[in-house]
Amino acid sequence: MDWEDFKIQRNRASLWGEEMRVFKKPNLSNDWKCPICGTSDKKEVVLIGIIGTEEGRNIQAEQFHLDCLDLAWNKHSNIVYQIVEGK
Ligand SMILES: [Zn+2]
Repeated sequence: MDWEDFKIQRNRASLWGEEMRVFKKPNLSNDWKCPICGTSDKKEVVLIGIIGTEEGRNIQAEQFHLDCLDLAWNKHSNIVYQIVEGK
């Protein structure tokens, strides 16, 4: 899937209720760098909503390289997460 296939405006996407989509390459506008590895490598990316930016059914989102994700589940708090070290 390419960005052209996804309705997104200024990094604001309707993500809730949608499956996580994998994009073949990142949108490199705004000097994007993956928050985990700090590079702009042209690898597959996914969009992850940013807590605190919810508006109705929309939420701002950031791109992450798919292969940089290393998620863990805290069963007690029921939160899936990854600690992102400094870049
Ligand atoms: Zn990365």
